[in-house]
Amino acid sequence: AHLDRIAAVDGAVNAFLHVNAEEALATARAVDERRVAGEELHPLAGVPIAVKDVVVTQGMPTTAGSKILEGWVPPYDATLVEKIRAAGLPILGKTNMDEFAMGSSTEHSAFGNTRNPWDLDRIPGGSGGGSAAAVAAFEAPLAIGTDTGGSIRQPGAVTGTVGVKPTYGGVSRYGLIAMASSLDQAGPVTRTVLDSALLHELIGGYDARDSTSIPGRAPALVDAAVQGATGDLTGLRVGVVKELNGEGYQEGVSARFAQSLDLLRGLGAEIVEVSCPHFEYALGAYYLIMPSEASSNLAKFDGMRFGLRVEPEEGPVTAERVMAATRGAGFGDEVKRRIILGTYALSAGYYDAYYGSAQKVRTLIQRDFAAAFEQADVLVSPTAPTTAFRFGEKLDDPLAMYLNDVATIPANLAGVPGMSVPAGLSDDGLPVGFQILAPAKADDRMYRVGAALE
Ligand code: GLN
Repeated sequence: AHLDRIAAVDGAVNAFLHVNAEEALATARAVDERRVAGEELHPLAGVPIAVKDVVVTQGMPTTAGSKILEGWVPPYDATLVEKIRAAGLPILGKTNMDEFAMGSSTEHSAFGNTRNPWDLDRIPGGSGGGSAAAVAAFEAPLAIGTDTGGSIRQPGAVTGTVGVKPTYGGVSRYGLIAMASSLDQAGPVTRTVLDSALLHELIGGYDARDSTSIPGRAPALVDAAVQGATGDLTGLRVGVVKELNGEGYQEGVSARFAQSLDLLRGLGAEIVEVSCPHFEYALGAYYLIMPSEASSNLAKFDGMRFGLRVEPEEGPVTAERVMAATRGAGFGDEVKRRIILGTYALSAGYYDAYYGSAQKVRTLIQRDFAAAFEQADVLVSPTAPTTAFRFGEKLDDPLAMYLNDVATIPANLAGVPGMSVPAGLSDDGLPVGFQILAPAKADDRMYRVGAALE
């Protein structure tokens, strides 16, 4: 049914870069047989899933939305993909994204725009617009995204889906094509909070192949969602982050946010205001740290090892000239912009002024979170300042595009988990997201609150 739905609507939505029909059907049939044979299966066995194209999948093309990887078929699976396959979830295909996950609209994909199913003239968010649009358009019930600065939560918000960025280290990064290694985290995109809990528990947990993976037991997310669904939040302290609300947020977004707060109050939660004074510098710090790490991570795309190789049109074919020609032709403008920014920020003489300062801001933001979590069990804000904008609206203005991430970026800088749940429609008829943040390794708290709101 989902493959039929993809065939029917993906011409318009363009959520998928690759559809894995044959293998998905074979997996579904195999799971059916095991079920008939009475085998005990994972609760999500047989439930199809779409995977963002920045996650490597053995035997399936993986492009990260870039021409530089076109034609590359990874020889191995990411840990999270191994887990998905082992549990018997058919993989429907790979979803569109901003090139190397750099963007907030999916307009930076080398393979065309993904359209927001709510209004085909509008962006589906980014960088994981494909995963969110696939779920919103009923092409897939579940999807995987990655979130370095908001790329799961913001697409979730603007498509009316649930998007979760787990605690940093909660889901293995082995097999994610790295953008900014200290910020990247994979997580679920679904239609309900309980679906996200099931998927998050499946893909999460310790992995020796990721040096930043958290050892030990992960929190019980499904239990927390089930508990939250009872609708009793008595005694829970919900902190409204003063700096992530009010000015700069679209009126309809603020109205839906206020309504969600009323709902929480009605369920017994205590609403308090908290201040995180350094969040104001989060965007600036992020756009130094992220390009710095990306400039290093993307050095491996050299025309020798993966995908595209372009030889210089004239003159000698030296290694350096092949690299230059390949990178010149293979990377898009946004990727080049960030490689240049990052290389500059890391260069001798500027390191302390830029990268070093940004790292200090990062510590201050972590302290802001620690202080705020003394006063509240969870923190909340609108997920994004606006609803889905029109194609082209922010494409020529990188700063305007970057500003869409103000509310999501602090969580990545501090490594804390964040979730966006649908909060109804703005007066423009488009979905609004409600963001819930919890302390590191306390992802269960946001599932409780998210499920209560549903
Ligand atoms: N929009 C942000 C950026 O462009 C976040 C991207 C992401 O989370 N991958 O960097």
